[in-house]
Amino acid sequence: KYILAFETSCDETSVAVLKNDQELLSNIIASQIDSHKRFGGVVPEVASRHHVEVITTCINEALSEANITVSDLTAVAVTEGPGLVGALLVGIAAAKAFAWAHELPLIPVNHMAGHLWAARQVKPLEFPLMALLVSGGHTELVYVSEPGDYKIIGETRDDAVGEAYDKVGRVMQLTYPAGREIDMLAHQGKDVFNFPRAMMKHDDPALEFSFSGLKSAFINTVHNAEQKGESLDVKDLSASFQAAVLDVLLAKTKIALTEYPVKMLVVAGGVAANKGLRDRLAAEITDIDVVIPPLRLCGDNAGMIAYASVCEYNQNHFADWDLNATPSLSFEQLS
Ligand code: ATP
Ligand code: MG
Ligand code: FE
Repeated sequence: KYILAFETSCDETSVAVLKNDQELLSNIIASQIDSHKRFGGVVPEVASRHHVEVITTCINEALSEANITVSDLTAVAVTEGPGLVGALLVGIAAAKAFAWAHELPLIPVNHMAGHLWAARQVKPLEFPLMALLVSGGHTELVYVSEPGDYKIIGETRDDAVGEAYDKVGRVMQLTYPAGREIDMLAHQGKDVFNFPRAMMKHDDPALEFSFSGLKSAFINTVHNAEQKGESLDVKDLSASFQAAVLDVLLAKTKIALTEYPVKMLVVAGGVAANKGLRDRLAAEITDIDVVIPPLRLCGDNAGMIAYASVCEYNQNHFADWDLNATPSLSFEQLS
């Protein structure tokens, strides 16, 4: 059984081949980041065009690196949403055309389920499980009673964690996306600014997140210093920002784990690459198995879409030929 998976929801064009639900034979990732850097964020129109330009090459490379031919394939999987509509449509059109031409079934996959299932690369997932999904557009705690049954038990009311990293990175004049660099700087600085940890009071919703107040506090601190002609140490700023973020992520995850008994904690999404987060999870969550995808599978990639598609395949969940992009697709909207 070989699945060919497509992912084009944002600024990575990616195609992967998964063998027997388990072995990732190839996972080609063409990043467009150099084209978006100078704009300080992803430009949707530019993203769609790049996907169109490279998708065919990605398909060919994925098949040749996997050392298989089209006739070996069992199914085609593709990200249906959430993501940028124009970007998603390129992957969907390519996957549909490919599946139609080769008479293969088409599997629709939720991008966030993809982030979660990337953990399958590490070991088989055990249910029920709790997932902390932290990425550029999402911050959510998801209770998964069994494969395919997702319940969002807490999420951000404003900015996503990755988004907050990228925005404060911009204030420090770091290159977009700034998460990785802030993570590295944080390890060389100290938490001297004591930024606010939001939604942590006892009468706040225990599992909800908010990061816009932290972002504003950060920006005010930098601007106030600038007005006095001072410049602050980016290492200490990074360490202080990261400490505030991690305090909240750890606290909420611990509450979720006490409220919902589970067999595993999965931490996934682009921000799961964060070394500070990984260190703190290892130090503080010791009574349960914590599974985090390898670095290469934390950011957007088609390998994670392939892993997630196995769950849909097993439940006979296939797409019709009129499959469309759903930019704000939620876990709970899965048909
Ligand atoms: P979504 O998955 O919500 O649709 P996305 O696909 O754009 O959004 P991802 O690709 O999963 O997001 O993650 C990208 C984000 O991860 C960026 O905001 C980036 O700054 C952040 N990120 C990457 N590495 C790190 C790190 N080491 N520490 C913190 N953030 C990081
Ligand atoms: Mg990206
Ligand atoms: Fe993503």
